[in-house]
Amino acid sequence: MRVFLEREARLAIIFAAIEAAEERYGPKETLGLLFGYRTGDGVIVRFALPYQTAKRKTSGVEYPRKESRLLSLLPELPKAHMEHVGYFHSHPYDRKGREYPPSPTDSDKQSMRNGDLEIIISLKRKKKDVEAGVRRNETVSATAGPYYYKIAAYYKIEGRIEKAELDASLETVPRTDGNLNA
Ligand SMILES: [Zn+2]
Repeated sequence: MRVFLEREARLAIIFAAIEAAEERYGPKETLGLLFGYRTGDGVIVRFALPYQTAKRKTSGVEYPRKESRLLSLLPELPKAHMEHVGYFHSHPYDRKGREYPPSPTDSDKQSMRNGDLEIIISLKRKKKDVEAGVRRNETVSATAGPYYYKIAAYYKIEGRIEKAELDASLETVPRTDGNLNA
């Protein structure tokens, strides 16, 4: 499956991830809803809405109980013909600044529902200038101020987790090495 992450959705995901990571009592994860369009062979993600009250537990994700009420507001969105296409969540650095990959943990895999997309963003503080604005192995990496992030997309089909071919519009693209679309 191909996933295209539009700029507005990408920025909303990055903002939510940074805000949760900078929590006073240690980095927290964020999660939220993804909206967009399903195409023949993929999904275009247009819009991301972070949840403010969701709790993450070691055993998985606890979505707000009011989720069905929130989804009932979907027709009120400016692009009413968008669909709820899945979820996103973050893997922040830990208290020691160690980064975690943007790949699903066992509990992430269990909480995913068939047909849903799950976008995972991992975040760390930049220690030095790093190569940014690249797509490699279907993972998008870029910088946002003092942060370096990686985004990957997964989906569940018949109980199996597959990695999607992720693409995004990026502001910074390094000098071409002729291999950016590999
Ligand atoms: Zn996770």
